[in-house]
Order: sequence, then structure tokens, then C-alpha cells
Amino acid sequence: MKAIVIREFGEPEVMRVEEVVAPVPADGQVLIAMKAAGVNPVDTYVRTGTYPLKPELPYIPGMDGSGIVEATGRGVKKFSAGDRVYVSRTLRGSYAEKALCLESQVHPLPAMVSFQQGAGVGVPYGAACHALFGRAKVSPGETVLVHGATGGVGIAAVQMARAAGMVVIGTGGTEKGRRLVKEQGCHHVFDHRAPDYADRILEVTEGRGVDVIIEMLGNVNLGKDLRMIARSGRIVVVGSRGTTEINPRDIMGRDAAILGMVILNASESELYRAFALIDAGLESGTLRPVIGKELPLAEAARSHHDIMGSSAYGKIVLTV
Ligand code: NAP
Repeated sequence: MKAIVIREFGEPEVMRVEEVVAPVPADGQVLIAMKAAGVNPVDTYVRTGTYPLKPELPYIPGMDGSGIVEATGRGVKKFSAGDRVYVSRTLRGSYAEKALCLESQVHPLPAMVSFQQGAGVGVPYGAACHALFGRAKVSPGETVLVHGATGGVGIAAVQMARAAGMVVIGTGGTEKGRRLVKEQGCHHVFDHRAPDYADRILEVTEGRGVDVIIEMLGNVNLGKDLRMIARSGRIVVVGSRGTTEINPRDIMGRDAAILGMVILNASESELYRAFALIDAGLESGTLRPVIGKELPLAEAARSHHDIMGSSAYGKIVLTV
């Protein structure tokens, strides 16, 4: 089979297509003929070799994808050959013609969800769900700010928060992105590059602030978040790319909580709960990944440049 193989850590160009031996599913494993692989920022961090998750070289990158079950190992009960599925993590990487997974990493892909959309579910919807429900413990009627709503995690968080009965505020850095997040269910949309948007968010909450912030760029925004958070509010830092300085009095004065979250830390039972909710949303139609860009597998290097370099508009996926 063809797969993207990384033989040394480094720039996106270390990803090259190679012919490799296709895996055979052992007991409890599922082999999937892949149709699409999702590209996540974490794939780029791992590729540099500087992330805590450092695979042994050589390795096949990618955590998310979708396709058709080709074969199952003994003891697999929920899936059989021919099933449409999406995956949340794999045993050997998803940027490949075939991926090997544990049964628990495989989920049914409803007929009305495309393979490209299926490849956009795992990490972003898992992170959005765990941030909202697992960490912030949101309640219907609360106000949530999705700070960076135009990308994979942001759109997932907007759709989930809206479906759960929250007042949803989203931000985007481009006009096109802001139109998208409005279509996805945000009640109010602001430009996170505008100088006065934090004041305007306070205005739409009548000065009270937002109950929950799902933060995609903590190093840039945490100080601002602490001015926009309501009393007893929760800020979940999902993304951050550097350091920052905050005034601890802003946390004290509001009885606020700053919570960290990395989906790779989630326990089996937390993941089970998150994907039960996600799978129900895919089935009912409340959750639908937005695909902004499709590239062929051989252009994996370009996909890594794009996800780190350009403004977001939903997900980037590689088609297999
Ligand atoms: P993505 O698709 O590349 O989207 C990036 C998002 O960040 C876009 O909405 C972008 O908005 C927004 N952004 C850029 N500048 C911003 C600013 N000044 N303030 C607020 N938002 C800003 O990436 P993603 O998959 O959604 O992931 C988002 C972040 O979360 C990444 O840092 C990623 O590494 C992290 N993440 C963490 C977990 C976890 O488990 N903790 C899981 C998945 C992702 P515009 O492009 O419209 O400006």
C-alpha cells in the first residue's frame, strides 16, 4: 500500500509517499481502506519531533480518517467488512491507503456524512466535546465564547454548543470565516483582529461577560479572556503557541477557573462519553464537519504548510 512515511523529524517536506507492507489485523483490530485523512495542527507539532508525543522513526503520521472496513481480527463485534467508518486515532497512522485501529477507535459513519467530513471528526470534535462538556461542564442557557471559531475545533464547538442550547459567540479573522461561523450557528460573531472586539463582546452580554470561553490561542488571548469572563466563568485553553502574562487578580475577582485540556490525556471513559455524543450528533444531523480544502495524499507537505500558515475555513483533508 502507499503511505506517507516520515524517516526524520523536520519540515513538512520530510513527508514522502512510499510503498509499505499493508498491516494485517490481529485480535480486536480493524483494518480500514482509507478514503480520506484529516490534517490537524498536532500532526505538524509531532512531525517536528519537539512535541511530548514523539513516535519512533520511521512512522506514518495522522490521527483522523475515514474509509471502509476491509478486514477485522478475531473478537471484533461492532464492525464487519464493507462498513463505512471514521476513526479517532489509529495504531499506525492515517495518512495511508490502509489504517489499522483498535475496535474502540472506530466509529460508524452515517450514509449522509461524506468520507471527507468523516476525516474531520476525530481530534476536532473530540477536543471540542471534551472542552465543553468534560472540562467546562457547560449547561444549557449559558453563554459560550468560541475564541477562534473558524477552524476544525472552533466549528465543532459552535455546532455542539448551539445544539446544547447555549448562547454562542464566535470569532474569526476573515470576513469569509466569520460568515461561515454565523451559518454554523453563532448568535454573535466578532473579528479577533479588531482592536475593540473584547468590549463589544462585553456589550452583547450586557456587561456580565461570558460563562465559558473555549480558547484556541491562549498565549495571545488569555489576558483578554480574563476581562470577558463572567463571575464563576470557566476558560478552557485548547490551543496555545507561546507564553503570556496575566494578572491573577482578574481570576480571583471573578471566582474564575482557567482549565487546560489536551484530548490525548482523556481517559477511556471520557472518550467513550464524548464519542457517544458525537456519534449521536452525526446521526441526527446536528454535527457536520465543514471541509475547506481537499488535497491528494501526495500533497501532505502542502497541507501542513497550509494548516499552519493560512486563515482557517473548516478542515483540511487529504483524499486517498
Ligand atoms: P485550525 O483549523 O488551524 O484553526 C485555527 C483557529 O485559530 C482558527 O479559527 C483561527 O482563526 C484561530 N485563530 C487565529 N488567530 C487567532 C486569535 N488571535 N484569536 C483567536 N483565534 C485565533 O486549528 P484547529 O484544529 O481548530 O485547532 C485550534 C488550536 O487548538 C490549535 O492550536 C491546535 O493545536 C489546538 N488543538 C488542541 C487540542 C487539544 O486537545 N488541546 C485538540 C485539537 C486542536 P482565523 O484563521 O479565522 O484567524
